[in-house]
Amino acid sequence: MPRLIVVSNRVAHFGQDEANTGGLATALKSALEDQGGIWFGWSGEVVDGEPSPPKREQYGAVTRATVDLERDAFHKFYTGFSNGALWPLLHYRADLMDFHHAEHEAYQQVNERFAAALMRLLRPDDVIWVHDYHLFPLGSYLRAMGAHHRIGFFLHTPFPPWQVMSALPVHARIAEALAAYDIVGTQTDDDAQCMREFLRRTLHLTVVGEECRSARGRMRISAFPISIDGDRIAADAARTVGSLASQNLLKSLDGRALVISVDRLDYTKGIPQRIAAIEYFLKRFPERLNDVSFLQIAPPSRDQVPAYRRLRKAVEEAIGRLNGQYAGFDSVPITYLRKSFAQSTLFGFYRAANVGLVTPLRDGMNLVAKEYVACQDPRNPGVLVLSSMAGAAKELDAALLVNPHDPIAASAAIRQALDMPLGERIERHQALMQRLKENDLETWRDNFLRSLINRPQEIPIPHLKPSGVIAVAP
Ligand code: UDP
Repeated sequence: MPRLIVVSNRVAHFGQDEANTGGLATALKSALEDQGGIWFGWSGEVVDGEPSPPKREQYGAVTRATVDLERDAFHKFYTGFSNGALWPLLHYRADLMDFHHAEHEAYQQVNERFAAALMRLLRPDDVIWVHDYHLFPLGSYLRAMGAHHRIGFFLHTPFPPWQVMSALPVHARIAEALAAYDIVGTQTDDDAQCMREFLRRTLHLTVVGEECRSARGRMRISAFPISIDGDRIAADAARTVGSLASQNLLKSLDGRALVISVDRLDYTKGIPQRIAAIEYFLKRFPERLNDVSFLQIAPPSRDQVPAYRRLRKAVEEAIGRLNGQYAGFDSVPITYLRKSFAQSTLFGFYRAANVGLVTPLRDGMNLVAKEYVACQDPRNPGVLVLSSMAGAAKELDAALLVNPHDPIAASAAIRQALDMPLGERIERHQALMQRLKENDLETWRDNFLRSLINRPQEIPIPHLKPSGVIAVAP
């Protein structure tokens, strides 16, 4: 088996802190441990002045290799182009895109620097797997620097129709970057189809099935829906529901049903629209006020970006208004926690909740939805209410699917979920678990890596020229 090189903006920690490692990091780590390899990316350190050479730490067969970023470059690359322009655009929000040429230039330069540092670590038969939108151009820089490796890319976000993508002034650069990979994985078939069409329109490539071809080569774009380690999560949830935190949560409900939502404070998650649906629910069914409690966990996110600060203000005002109107002296309809929790704590909360209310306006996958399902007691499961705009809805079609923009429909779904008879809850839960078993995290990882390793050795369409600013070791 070839050595594996994983590249992502943030690099998982090895050794200490294993308990807080997320599912994705655990799955990638175990592939690295099996095959030997390197996890390469940003160190998490921002420095003033020239960054030092890459830092390498060895953990058995795995090297953790990281580079620092210079403060101004980091701000433009990460806060600016990645999260201020690409993130909204990829979630269909061209209206929120804040594009600046200087930030895009910094984005390209950071990717080029990453590529140059990685080139020094590569062996000829390594297989490289790049993750997410921060690093679209990495593969094309590696190609321009002479990498003949198999290089795959996985996009964790949605990919919008080409008409939306073309609002980005530098969209052709993104198309060229994508075309340099042997294989690109997306979350859903719809995303893959949009991306192929984007390459067809922008670079005039020919699309044949899942392949994009030109006279100079071919690459493949296919869906590989990411998943969770359902068995591990179910076992964790069964254990943690007895924890002090879960028991205290249950006690605080005083017999009321619990509806839980867990999202980063991000405008893609549909939190204001969800509050509107809850408000409609309480207005339409006032008799339910005393028998249901809503819990919104919302860790802060990217608060350097103005759109996130505006969102936080809007969410807090809306919850304040709603609670002001509907709270009694001994209870509030929505409990709002602007902080993050360890996953093991969350899993106990999911299990204690009668309804998981997951209603993003647009989401690549939404792992919270899958985790909520895995955490349920199979003999008395809760009900998932899921946005049809989440990638997870493609697989989790036995959930109650709702349009997150429709407060009346969402409120009806909340009521249906709360009143659903045990037999139907069990039936839906079994169908959902079946889908999670068919495609777990290991299956996702192995399918992608097998597809990448088995690609015919045909260097894809190289487009980008290196800037020449960065010297590459021979
Ligand atoms: N999560 C967590 N603590 C929190 C909130 C969320 O560990 O306080 C985890 C959650 O369990 C899930 C991930 O963060 O695994 C969120 O993934 P998702 O795909 O739902 O959304 P994203 O934040 O990646 O857009």
